[in-house]
Amino acid sequence: KDGYKVVIIGGGAAGITVAAKLARTPGFHLSSDIAIVEPSTEHFYQPLWTLVGSGIKSFSESSKPTRELIPLGTQWLKSRVSKVDPVKQTVSTDDGKTVKYDFLVVAPGISLDWDKVPGLVSTLGKDGVTSIYSAQAVQGAYDMIRGFQGGNAIFTQPATPIKCAGAPQKIAYLAEEIFRSNGVRDKTSVKFNTGMGKIFSSDYYGEALTKIAASKGIEVNLGTNLLAIKPESKEAVFKKGAQEVVEKYSLLHVVPPMSAPKFIGESGLGNADGWCNVDKHTMQHAKYPNVFSLGDASSLPTSKTAAAITAQAKYLADNLLAVIGGETVLHNKYDGYTACPLVTGKNKLVMAEFSGYDFEPLETFPYDQRTESAFGYTLKTEVFPALYWDYMLKGVWDGPRKIRNAVQGVIKGEPVYAPY
Ligand code: FAD
Repeated sequence: KDGYKVVIIGGGAAGITVAAKLARTPGFHLSSDIAIVEPSTEHFYQPLWTLVGSGIKSFSESSKPTRELIPLGTQWLKSRVSKVDPVKQTVSTDDGKTVKYDFLVVAPGISLDWDKVPGLVSTLGKDGVTSIYSAQAVQGAYDMIRGFQGGNAIFTQPATPIKCAGAPQKIAYLAEEIFRSNGVRDKTSVKFNTGMGKIFSSDYYGEALTKIAASKGIEVNLGTNLLAIKPESKEAVFKKGAQEVVEKYSLLHVVPPMSAPKFIGESGLGNADGWCNVDKHTMQHAKYPNVFSLGDASSLPTSKTAAAITAQAKYLADNLLAVIGGETVLHNKYDGYTACPLVTGKNKLVMAEFSGYDFEPLETFPYDQRTESAFGYTLKTEVFPALYWDYMLKGVWDGPRKIRNAVQGVIKGEPVYAPY
């Protein structure tokens, strides 16, 4: 078969969730006419990697074979997309296939640009340099952190958009706690060097996080962007303002710069920065109405998280089905909801939930979610993984919006059942 009604690029959090939603839509009988183009035989639940790097979870819990997650009836094309022709409505792959589509969902995630930091690729995973953002390196991260004997421990965040902008500091909090329990904290300086101008995109949570970092003695250096690593001398070069600052490290946790997958821009689907250029509410492409996008590769101006996708997938699937059904005006509008469970230590978590569009908090639970809580920690470690594998990827979890509306209704004394 060389053509499908719906082709989905990427079988990650976004692609599988949308496919599952479409496949289970009554009346549409779409599943036999959906293809997911995904090169990887392993699917990763990446939010677990913060916990893998800190020894709380094992790496094996973060992965499942892709074939087990492809919805029944949906075709898996094990290839990598190299180009889309949105006029001819075709997708070309690395291995020379051309697949025709009527409707396209672009969800290939974000590209990690390890090679943009000179010295990083050759030293990642050894000599004190690690990262929870790499499937390989994360497997050695905990050994490196617990084996640390003191000195300068530096945790970096780049100046580019990244997925889960909270994770670079989460691992700093968890590592600091490990240094403390291993008795090496006294001979250690812990720094969080971020290329961003703030500790977190939402100031509401940012203020709480600034205090938490200070209480742990973590030095937060804003506007401090990793430029290069010199593995021979164990030095990291940062750009701070107009200056270059060189710092010695004994442990360096690196989050690499990230960017939109190149083929999106090269196919005429990108905005000025290369992200798939869609309406921020309907997720329909600005130029091609039969193209939609969500997740990390999209231009949606909210934080790039799996939590955001829980909401995006629902609206996208509804809008896509409406367009397939011949409608031209789309009513399902995504509000920018995103969430970031910021683990700040064992049994401690700040549950940031907000709209990436106006940075207003969108909290689900009836407590001040800026405070560190064991409840939030249990959700992150025990509930969210199951929610991801068994509900989100099966197309039946649309995020906490209904719960939030009900809880907020009760708080305001006006219980409401809020349909989605
Ligand atoms: P992905 O899940 O990355 O999937 C993209 C898929 O597309 C991949 O399977 C890839 O193989 C495939 N692909 C790539 N290029 C092509 C191509 N050319 N053709 C075809 N297929 C292609 N989110 C949270 O909500 N909470 C958290 O606590 C959290 N913590 C995180 C911690 C870490 C360390 C990391 C790395 C991420 C974290 N995230 C968190 C972010 C979350 O994992 C991502 O936002 C989410 O996975 C994005 O989904 P996606 O489908 O857009 O991309």
